Amino acid sequence: MLDSALRYSHKLLSDVLYKGSIAVDATMGNGHDTLFLAKKCGVNCVWAFDVQQQALNNTQQLLEQHGVKAQLSVAGHHNIAQVMPQNSRIQGAIFNLGYLPGSDKTIITKKETTLAALDFILPRLNNGGRCVLVLYYGHQGGREEKEAIIDYASSLDQAQFNVLTYQFINQRHCPPICLCIEKK
Ligand code: SAH
Repeated sequence: MLDSALRYSHKLLSDVLYKGSIAVDATMGNGHDTLFLAKKCGVNCVWAFDVQQQALNNTQQLLEQHGVKAQLSVAGHHNIAQVMPQNSRIQGAIFNLGYLPGSDKTIITKKETTLAALDFILPRLNNGGRCVLVLYYGHQGGREEKEAIIDYASSLDQAQFNVLTYQFINQRHCPPICLCIEKK
């Protein structure tokens, strides 16, 4: 069976991450992506962000259960430049956009902050490194964010980046889109 957008996002990163490589989880949420990245990259190679303290607590707990460690910050990913070293070289990054299911639906990612984070991450991607975004757009403001990100990604120089989208196009409601930006 074909992979869901979420599963495919992990596959795209699995292919390029290795022990000691640096990865970013731009939207910790419940910590599933942070755990996945930490298992792939090893201790303290993953930088994870969320604006909610609850997200950090949930993630910390999940990581402890699995005996792995990451650098967790209660900070918006648009403030990534204040947290990660300027000279970072990033092998992989993931964004799960929208709101956290079962949590406050008014705390959502926004196009300005998402694009600000991409402006930090993309110039620091290693050759062959990938930044993956899972776009959810069924909620209010979601379509605007999706369109802004697709516009931004479509205009990236093809000499420097490969960009693809992956989406089921015959599903009802708003099937998430997996967008991958790979540095050549
Ligand atoms: N929609 C996904 C989950 C998205 S979770 C799904 O259905 O599985 C999105 C997370 O991003 C939330 O935990 C939210 O707190 C966080 N968030 C919102 N704005 C943010 C920002 N500027 N920087 C970092 N995290 C942010």
